[in-house]
Amino acid sequence: MTIARVALDLPLHRLFDYRVPPGPLAVGLRIRVPFGRGEKIGVIVELPGTSEVPGDQLKDALQVLDDLPPLPDDFFQLCEFASNYYQAPLGEVLLQALPPGLRKTRSVKRMARRAKATGKPQEPQLPQLTGEQEVALEQVSLSRGYAPFLLHGVTGSGKTEVYLRLIARTLEQGHQALLLVPEINLTPQLEARIRSRFPQIQVAMLHSELAEAAREREWKAAFLGEARIIVGTRLSVFTPLPDLGLIVVDEEHDPSYKQQDGMRYSARDLAIYRASHLKIPILLGSATPSLESWAHGTHGRYTLLTLKERAVAAASLPRIRLVDTRRMNLRDGISPQLLEALGQRLEAGEQSLVFLNRRGYAPVLSCTACGWISRCKRCAANMVVHLKDQRLRCHHCGFEVRIPRACPTCGNQDIHPFGRGTQRLEAYLAEQFPQARILRVDRDSAKSRKQWEALLERIHGGEADILVGTQMLAKGHDFPRLTLVGAVGADAALFAADWRAPERLFAQLMQVAGRAGRADLPGEVIIQTEYTDQPLYGALQAHDYPRYADTLLQERRQAGFPPYTFQAMLRAEAPHMEDALQFLQAATTLLPQEHYPEVLLYDPVPMRLSRMWSLERGQLLVESPSRPQLQAFLSTWREGLDTLKTPSRLRWHLEVDPLEF
Ligand code: ADP
Ligand code: ZN
Ligand code: ZN
Repeated sequence: MTIARVALDLPLHRLFDYRVPPGPLAVGLRIRVPFGRGEKIGVIVELPGTSEVPGDQLKDALQVLDDLPPLPDDFFQLCEFASNYYQAPLGEVLLQALPPGLRKTRSVKRMARRAKATGKPQEPQLPQLTGEQEVALEQVSLSRGYAPFLLHGVTGSGKTEVYLRLIARTLEQGHQALLLVPEINLTPQLEARIRSRFPQIQVAMLHSELAEAAREREWKAAFLGEARIIVGTRLSVFTPLPDLGLIVVDEEHDPSYKQQDGMRYSARDLAIYRASHLKIPILLGSATPSLESWAHGTHGRYTLLTLKERAVAAASLPRIRLVDTRRMNLRDGISPQLLEALGQRLEAGEQSLVFLNRRGYAPVLSCTACGWISRCKRCAANMVVHLKDQRLRCHHCGFEVRIPRACPTCGNQDIHPFGRGTQRLEAYLAEQFPQARILRVDRDSAKSRKQWEALLERIHGGEADILVGTQMLAKGHDFPRLTLVGAVGADAALFAADWRAPERLFAQLMQVAGRAGRADLPGEVIIQTEYTDQPLYGALQAHDYPRYADTLLQERRQAGFPPYTFQAMLRAEAPHMEDALQFLQAATTLLPQEHYPEVLLYDPVPMRLSRMWSLERGQLLVESPSRPQLQAFLSTWREGLDTLKTPSRLRWHLEVDPLEF
């Protein structure tokens, strides 16, 4: 009797044994099995010979699927690592890594394996590399085995060019290259740039909005080794690749590398593991690296490569001006200086961008008579005014209502939107510059990838004079005629309760400033602030990321924050806060503290957004200066948590290396 040990996509930390029919069989093949009253697709992870399950309880598998070759060993290693590190069931990890089509219970036909694409890339006219680019390229080229690099290059310094050259070398050596990009950066422009650079090479593009069939096609091409370049977002770090020889993580600081539900993993960190396991080079690139990576880059764990100059000879870094708004009475938030600069650009036929990281018309509607404000009834948050569609909308749960004509509590008709968002800014600018073509870019105007791409196309086509947008616009896009960037309302993040907020603000402003003056036109950046002497703005003006990062790291070291300590977060949500906190409290006493002297458990507290979707949310922070201790603690703790009795509507999850609090 042959037994297959199978991983299934279930929230359970265990594997399942099945008897298998005679026929093709190997670890790494998918298998169709009966489960409960239905069927499931699993992955064979072991052929154990015997099972501890008594013979009469052992079920028969329905079919071993051999339409594809077995998933390779290094793929299992990666998934096992992720499963252990993030305390996620192996089955969930393995199966989420497969395209949905391959997880479905349908009978499948054998697919013919196509030949590998070969041949040297035929490269079109390449720019002469700058000295700095040469050095970076050479350092990576000379490396052997696992070699992590942090490429710190100012915006427009030609990081992408370095990636492309490295990819070309990797292909020549007969290997595949994996380029990870943030969700929003996987644009037709990037795709076109890669395809035109490597016209004879099969490229696989993988992102979450691909239709199922397309996703499966691209994934298979990558897995079978037909595609030699794989460009993808977060999830593609799991793509099994037979000949992987290089990983590049573009904009490595980007929060979208962190999965925020299900298995909460960091694709960047898994990419590092994958490179070290495969003994290949990995390049993390950014103009504003995460502090974690910067610490590794400056303490020698990663080799730091620097591009200080913009690549295009004529392009210099933009001049950054702070406008002190303390004594200004800012009508609709725009200073006279910024207005004037916008007017000048308009006359010169150049593009401007006004950056405000808050979408909607105004963050809240309020009654001046009784103090009513538009709270979401499901969340501990305000509902945002969306004037365009006459809606109040909660940005956390999506709940919405029509904008009321009068105050719901006192009937007063004098209710006002307070504060401002991109829509309000757009309306104001349209009033000021009636002749200008204004384009708003935020998650309301670019809901889908298609809409986003259409907007980008219009911007590139010169169809807009003034862009108003959120951080969507801050990421690595190249708008050649953009010469002015104005940043409005940035101060809000300076004093935010989240201690990572300044780091993110700096990155955003640096990125958004980097949009200005990319080609032969010089750029200018105007930042409106009431805190002109904040070190953050000073470092920004000097284009001095290292100085600011080092300051922040020092603060983190003194405060004992990451990356100088390691954290995990246990969160619980329930209809009543009491239940959530009680569960967390019980969790603190599960393991004898003296066994883990270096692990610190904080008191359970309500989360900052203490209610969402009508559920009360609590959290418990776990911290340790020792990664191994924390890991050891977490795996035993998680087993204990699984056995805790909980009220029926209580849900909990564990997040390792949380980014948000
Ligand atoms: P980054 O990724 O650092 O923002 P890119 O690689 O996109 O920078 O380069 C910015 C611009 O400079 C692009 O238009 C690119 O074609 C150009 N560029 C890059 N390297 C060179 C070079 N060595 N010589 C001339 N132009 C270059
Ligand atoms: Zn009222
Ligand atoms: Zn809500």
